[in-house]
Amino acid sequence: MDIWKYSRGEWAESVFDWPDLMDFEDALQRNGYSRGAAINFPEDGDFIEVYPKLGTEGIAPCMVAVCLDASSNDFIQTDDLPSLIMLLKDLAPIVSAYETGVMSELAQKSFRIWHGHSHRLICQECDPIGYEQLQKARSARKRGKQ
Ligand SMILES: [Zn+2]
Repeated sequence: MDIWKYSRGEWAESVFDWPDLMDFEDALQRNGYSRGAAINFPEDGDFIEVYPKLGTEGIAPCMVAVCLDASSNDFIQTDDLPSLIMLLKDLAPIVSAYETGVMSELAQKSFRIWHGHSHRLICQECDPIGYEQLQKARSARKRGKQ
């Protein structure tokens, strides 16, 4: 876990005060951020959470919790809205790749339930054109060996 500061494209060490063994939400409150009021991106996920600073309007300055490995969080402080927007823009391709991975995994699991085999298996019932092409390729290889 790391804590960084991001200000309009510039990265620096954070001055976030987080004593050992203190719960993250308690540390947020200690540093002046709202506790338990995260805005999530994507909406139903836990990938990026934005905690606004207490007593300010809008969502900046804020602390951004980012989960890049599905298990642990890293934290980024942003001072103002432009910094937050720039950070979210920088993270967008990572979020997109993550979401695509989630959708792909879901589709593969669904396919296995519906068809009883992996989506990678070329099956005569599910993929008649692919199956025909596979048979032609196998025949061509056999002819080549003779
Ligand atoms: Zn099949």
